[in-house]
This record gives sequence, C-alpha cells and structure tokens, in this order.
Amino acid sequence: TILADQIAAGEVVERPASVVKELVENAIDAHATQIDVVVEEAGLKSIKIIDNGDGIESSQVENAFKRHATSKITTREDLFKISTLGFRGEALPSIASVAKVTMNTAVAGQSGAFIAVNGGKIVDEKSSASRKGTEITVSDLFFNTPARLKYVKSLQTEMSVISDMMNRLAMSHTTISFSLTHGDKEVLRTTGNGQLQQTISAIYGVKSARQMLEFSGHDLDFKISGYTSLPELTRAGRQFISILINGRYVKNTSLNKAIIKGYGSKLMVGRYPVTVLNIQLDPLLVDVNVHPTKQEVRLSKESELTELIKKVIYERIAKENL
Ligand code: ADP
Ligand code: MG
Repeated sequence: TILADQIAAGEVVERPASVVKELVENAIDAHATQIDVVVEEAGLKSIKIIDNGDGIESSQVENAFKRHATSKITTREDLFKISTLGFRGEALPSIASVAKVTMNTAVAGQSGAFIAVNGGKIVDEKSSASRKGTEITVSDLFFNTPARLKYVKSLQTEMSVISDMMNRLAMSHTTISFSLTHGDKEVLRTTGNGQLQQTISAIYGVKSARQMLEFSGHDLDFKISGYTSLPELTRAGRQFISILINGRYVKNTSLNKAIIKGYGSKLMVGRYPVTVLNIQLDPLLVDVNVHPTKQEVRLSKESELTELIKKVIYERIAKENL
C-alpha cells in the first residue's frame, strides 16, 4: 500500500542525498559505465539520473515500483555477502511514494518503457523509444508528506551532503564515469579510468600525485589498502576520510580515529588527512545491528583492525620522511 511505502520511505528517504544514493546504486547494480546526476535546488525540486546500464524489461517496470517485489535476500546479515548494492527492493517504491517520479528505460534491442508515478500512484505508462539504459527523474520530494520537509536543512547543507555522497560513490567505483551537476554548475566529473588516485584528484583537487601516499597491509583477518595524504595536505573542519568495507561505503568513528592516530603528532590539531581506506574482511565479522541505510557498522575484532590501520598508516608516513 502507499501508506506502507511511505512508512518505509521514512527509513530509506531521509533527504535528497538518500534519493541520489539509492538511484545511483541502482545504476551501478545495472552495470552502468556512465552515470550522470543533475539536481535542481539541491535535489528538492528535482533529481535526474541518467545511466547507460542494463535497463528494465517493459514487463518488469511496474514491478520495480512494488515493495519487496525485487528483494534479493531476507536478512540484513547477508548485506556484506551480496555483490549488488541493492537488496531490499524498497528504494524505488519508497521514493515514488513521497515524490513525483518519471522513468524511461530500455534493455538492449527492445523498445523502451515510460512510467510516471505520483505519490505512489501510477499515472501514466506507455512504450517509448529509449536508448539502452535508464533515465529517472524525481521531482517535488516530500510534496505529499510535508512533515518530512521539516527535517530538510538549508539548500547549501543538502547540496553538500549530495556532493559528499557522490564523491564516495565515485571513489568506490573508479571504473564508472560519474558527473554531478547542480543547476548549471558542474560539481564533479570523473573519468572512470579505474585509477583511484585520479578520482581523488578530481574530487579534492589534489594537484600532485605525490601528495597522496598509497598504502596496504594485512593480518590474519583483515586486508587494507588505499591512499592517504601527506601530513602537509590536510583539510580543516571536516573529515575527508572515506572507508569502504568489501566495496560498501561505511561509517565508523573508531576506524576514522585509527587513521588519524597513524599520523601521530604529524597532524596539526583540527586538521584531517584526505584518506580512502578499503577494507576486505569476512562478512561474518560485520555486525549489522544498525539500519543498513544509515551506513554505520559495528565490527567484531574492531581493536585488531584499528591497530592494523594505525600501524600501516604510521609506517607509510614514516617511510616518506626517510
Ligand atoms: P533493489 O535495488 O533493492 O533491488 P530498488 O527499489 O532500488 O530495489 O529497485 C527495484 C528494482 O528495479 C531493481 O532490483 C532493479 O531490477 C530495477 N532497477 C531500478 N533502477 C534501475 C536502473 N537504473 N537500471 C536497471 N534496473 C533498475
Ligand atoms: Mg536499489
């Protein structure tokens, strides 16, 4: 029902950035190699996502907007085992229940489909001449749930959260070319050439590759790798640290602290390194107690992992000073 979808939307769709995240992840799951995101008024007016992925079969388009119709797993413990980012079959129906959505989609070699859904109701559906891939537009977010608008912050804040989200998606998928446009301003463009270092440069404007140090290390349970900036190249006020576990972007304060501790006294107070940290681990070590869309994770053997991170970063920076 639309009400059930709206309740689910309360968990999945917190703000414009959550819409961007879910839709871009769908495009990634559909094997897109190019994903363009265009937002107006920080996504509150509209969010358009164009991908060149697999598309949706005409006969499946309605289903994609039905909750759990496309669910891939039954328990969230499976989250870090599955290879797709989506798994609940909840995002599209949730988003469509609190906004106006139009979608044009086509699979290779077939005629495409157009669907329009307003506040959870299908208002139009027809065949269309689309190229392979999907173009989805979400307009007037929360138009029918005004209470939710209360939680939305200033346009500037919402835009910076979207931008952050796109940066992290780009860094975790370096073989996809991403763009983000706000109004007539291009905020981000990555080449998709598979070089994490280039993606970092595109995002942070790091001029010289020498400013980012590549690191890697492992113990029995964890494998870590990534890039972290020279102690001279730091940012104030905000943390430019991205952590991925088995390719999935997560938040965990202890891991952030471990990176900073690795710098010891080399980092000035209040300054943060630019870091992208990839962690590979047995999915059983992740405690997904928190709702998966919140991105926060708890780990067993967390102190073992923080020690490893601290040590690897410390040694990498020490090596640079030799
Ligand atoms: P989930 O991603 O959890 O499966 P969603 O509600 O996000 O659920 O999407 C529902 C389904 O619609 C997906 O499983 C997928 O089959 C299809 N879909 C959504 N977006 C796209 C897209 N951009 N390209 C291809 N298929 C898509
Ligand atoms: Mg999804």
